[in-house]
Amino acid sequence: KRIGYAIVGLGHLSLAQILPAFGSCKYSKPVALVSGDAAKAQTVAAQYGIPVKNIYNYQNFDEIKNNPEVDVVYIVLPNSMHAEFTIRAAKAGKHVLCEKPMATSVKDCERMIEACKTAGKQLMIAYRIQYEPHHKLVKDWVRNKEYGKVRLIEAFNAQNIGDPTQWRLKKSLSGGGSLPDIGLYCLNTARYLIGEEPVSVLATIYSTPNDPRFKEVEETVMFQMHFPNGTQVNSTTSYGVHESRRYRCYADKGGWFGLDPAFPYKGLKMEVSQARDAIEWKSNPSLEEKDQFALEMDHMSQCVRNNKKPFTPGEEGLQDQRIMDAIYESAHTGKIVKLETIKGLDIFR
Ligand code: NAD
Repeated sequence: KRIGYAIVGLGHLSLAQILPAFGSCKYSKPVALVSGDAAKAQTVAAQYGIPVKNIYNYQNFDEIKNNPEVDVVYIVLPNSMHAEFTIRAAKAGKHVLCEKPMATSVKDCERMIEACKTAGKQLMIAYRIQYEPHHKLVKDWVRNKEYGKVRLIEAFNAQNIGDPTQWRLKKSLSGGGSLPDIGLYCLNTARYLIGEEPVSVLATIYSTPNDPRFKEVEETVMFQMHFPNGTQVNSTTSYGVHESRRYRCYADKGGWFGLDPAFPYKGLKMEVSQARDAIEWKSNPSLEEKDQFALEMDHMSQCVRNNKKPFTPGEEGLQDQRIMDAIYESAHTGKIVKLETIKGLDIFR
């Protein structure tokens, strides 16, 4: 039996990526929708063969507890709403898959973990990158020292954000600007590749004065993370420049490798550069492209089936939130911010 999903929030990501991805899933199927727009929900339900009785809104959502077809609630709402709906889903006795960023504060992340623990339900944060084959291969190269020890990682994730009235630019809904939305990919992927937790961060923030988009949230964040094994990570994220999403890992034995683009849904491209016989050889090894959302949802479904903790559990989102808080603190104080050692995170790595 496929695991049944209720999708909460029928915005761009749900309609353009998540719902179509079920077509590539082996263990997951959409069975319910939760939306503030009844007409939209009915149209989408008809498209995916979801019965009208399985449509909920934000008010009657808690009734989902009486629906045995729903195993997992997938939360795809603005960031500050993730905590409320995760906690309500756990109380309704459902497992939770929650979009990134997990929430907008450490406290909310902790409340979400606690609620799922109390309910005895799994909580996974939707870090699709960690389930994608190209990134997994790069992770193996970093960890196995395929090209020597990786000493530096450069990561960049930027886009020119449009409409100044969108929720992403309202702090109460987003929690922040480019950092929690797209800079998070640089942060989370670096931790995944290295398999360690940063010991300190140093950051600066810049927002163009009088740009109506950046009244409440930041435009650009440049941040460095320092890892215990000596790897240094330099990241930039911005809402103010043309789209570019890439990273490179620089190893000490004549090679660098990475992905450009690295973070979109499709079309990831690997790059390897190696010195051989005093010549720099460039190559673009490629792997079969898979739907990242299908991989991620099927991982969650297998965890639910086998009663196993997901590879990117709530603790993973909580750790990223702690590091983002430290990045903001560093930018505001102009000083390096040290991070506490987190015990137990390595079990997922
Ligand atoms: P979106 O604006 O397209 O959709 C948000 C949905 O939430 C809409 O259906 C909207 O009606 C609903 N909503 C309910 N209350 C709202 C309120 N008070 N204000 C605004 N909208 C409200 O956003 P999206 O791009 O689909 O993003 C949703 C979530 O998914 C975010 O947490 C985002 O970070 C995450 N996301 C993840 C990825 C990824 O690759 N994993 C990509 C895009 C977005």
